[in-house]
Amino acid sequence: MDKRLRVLLKDANTGHRLTEEEALLLFRTQGRDVWDVAAAADIGRQEKVGDVVTYVRNQNINVTNLCVNSCGFCGFSKKPGDAGIYFHNKDEIRKKAALAKKRNVTEICTVSGLHPDFTAQSYIDVYRLIHEAAPGVHLHASNPMEVAYAAKKSRMSTREVLSAMKEAGLGSMCGTAAEILVDSVRKQICPQKISTDEWVRIIREAHNLGIPTTATIMYGHCESVEDWVKHLALLREIQDETRGFTEFVPLSFIHMNTPLYKKGLARAGATGREDLLMVAVSRLFLDNFENIQVSWVKEGVKMAQLGLLAGANDLGGTMFEESISKGAGARNTDYLDPKEMERIAQDIGRKLVRRTTLYEVVP
Ligand code: SF4
Repeated sequence: MDKRLRVLLKDANTGHRLTEEEALLLFRTQGRDVWDVAAAADIGRQEKVGDVVTYVRNQNINVTNLCVNSCGFCGFSKKPGDAGIYFHNKDEIRKKAALAKKRNVTEICTVSGLHPDFTAQSYIDVYRLIHEAAPGVHLHASNPMEVAYAAKKSRMSTREVLSAMKEAGLGSMCGTAAEILVDSVRKQICPQKISTDEWVRIIREAHNLGIPTTATIMYGHCESVEDWVKHLALLREIQDETRGFTEFVPLSFIHMNTPLYKKGLARAGATGREDLLMVAVSRLFLDNFENIQVSWVKEGVKMAQLGLLAGANDLGGTMFEESISKGAGARNTDYLDPKEMERIAQDIGRKLVRRTTLYEVVP
């Protein structure tokens, strides 16, 4: 390891807040230096949250895959006339929510395509329905894109939509639709999506209304390492102000069935080195985040375990039903048994602990 890297990692472990330039340097490490960055992040993880690996028992309900947008990285959405369109009616949603309750989940997560007929009321009705069919289960739903869409369709402000969603039972919001928070990249991968400024504004509104959110990055397509750093810097700045992010979730791009990859406009996802460094550098750079999650859905269980050795402390959810990554071509995304999570945690000398969405321990 060269001297500059050694000093930098030592500084990061003793309270120095990394600059963007330093984060860039860490993201660019190669060879055995990668393990040194991962080891420093692992120390940071241990000092911040100890030796437990957490997970949440949750279930997804994606109401529809019909979507007015055409994001280039999305293998999930369908257009009118496509094969494989689905739309769960009220009865089906009620049944799914009741089944989730029976499965003893503490969280139901729902994000859907932007259905052409949806208004703010459609989202509110779905949240009420889920809340009634699964009382006591935390509703983790929507994202800034859905909030902006609902607001536009119903001529409301995004703040009004968020308040109404909260009133209908929204417990926390998904920090998805962030992708890469750099407009030049967004123009290439999701030109119809809200801008970086709008994403940030809606997240701030949510936090100010007492709606916590997750924070995500979707990486490994056509963005640069500099874009990763800009993205992380923005998240750190928001967290300094609001403390409303519960966790950071790096989402590795699943490329197989996506228009972006098929047109040759994106690479075939991140490499293992990049997956590892994304976890490690975010642990070191996002010094105001408690929790860094590894997504077994995106990375597979084995890579997720390595992420737990590189700064991550959370394995995400059991899922029970998953269709977004599956649509993009990922396999084995439906359910991860806590017994398997326990095996993964124990294998690296850590203890698995069940948590709620907001990171309270479930006895
Ligand atoms: S990512 Fe979301 S908004 Fe974009 S096309 Fe897919 S479902 Fe629609």
